[in-house]
Amino acid sequence: MNNAENDAEQKTILVAVLLHLGYNIQQLWIINNTFYIGGNNMLVNAKDMLDKAKAGHYAVGQFNINNLEWTKSILLTAQELNSPVILGVSEGAGKYMTGFKTVAAMVKAMDEELGITVPVATHLDHGTYEGCYKCIKAGFTSIMFDGSSLPIDENVAKTKELVAVAHNLGMSIEAEVGAIGGEEDGVVGQGECADPDECKSVADLGVDMLAAGIGNIHGKYPANWAGLSFETLDAIQKKTGKMPLVLHGGTGIPDDMIKKAIDLGVSKINVNTECQLSFAAATREYIEAGKDNEGKGYDPRKLLAPGAEAIKATVKEKMELFGSVNKA
Ligand SMILES: [Zn+2]
Repeated sequence: MNNAENDAEQKTILVAVLLHLGYNIQQLWIINNTFYIGGNNMLVNAKDMLDKAKAGHYAVGQFNINNLEWTKSILLTAQELNSPVILGVSEGAGKYMTGFKTVAAMVKAMDEELGITVPVATHLDHGTYEGCYKCIKAGFTSIMFDGSSLPIDENVAKTKELVAVAHNLGMSIEAEVGAIGGEEDGVVGQGECADPDECKSVADLGVDMLAAGIGNIHGKYPANWAGLSFETLDAIQKKTGKMPLVLHGGTGIPDDMIKKAIDLGVSKINVNTECQLSFAAATREYIEAGKDNEGKGYDPRKLLAPGAEAIKATVKEKMELFGSVNKA
């Protein structure tokens, strides 16, 4: 038996076993003798939702998750507003939740148990090369490979490889050109504007969405922030054509700038810090009012409830601003 026949036979046996165990399998892929299971029937990749957003001149929000409460609040709000949604998971948040497998299993089960019918994608945020493979194995539907700190040749080679793997598994993939300033999980970058020609060369590798620095930064914006560079955004969009562009660091960008960015081709906006701030403020209010000392106010289901409601309000506000309401 040659290698290809051997692989095919192993694949057939594995599919039979996995189906028997109740897995929903769209595709299997073999890399270096390791099997990867791609996609599942409930969650979707981000490609279709972003292509639709691009054509419809609105943006889909990526809301990062940190735990069960975050996930539940975001999923319920997306369903209530009939909006597509991308659940972002940073490598740090994945580690915090004990690993990407836990995250993938939780989101998939919660999506089913809550009866969510709007499109939901599980997306690795700012992934390393190794992190991307972990998420591919864990059953995420989308990944971001952040090779922005690598020399451009290495960024291109690794992005190319991951595009082929992701697409073979029915997953979508985001790449980044030009470091986005601020701090995300300890990765500090200088605020910068990406080179439109570099954006074009990475877009041509077949990625489904492209993050490009346009003066945006992660976390809270400083008082002396210069604002987004619409000139850069416009130049990048002209070079990359229909490529959905991603705006990172959505917290604290004024509404009119967000709207203009969407007009100029941004189809995905990442929100992380804003949900953290609203969760923290609501929790602080509960504790400072002494409510944890009233009755069974210390019960985590009560103590975390105001924060969870605050996340819902933030997500709702963003989905309305981005124009994704009723676009599921
Ligand atoms: Zn980011």
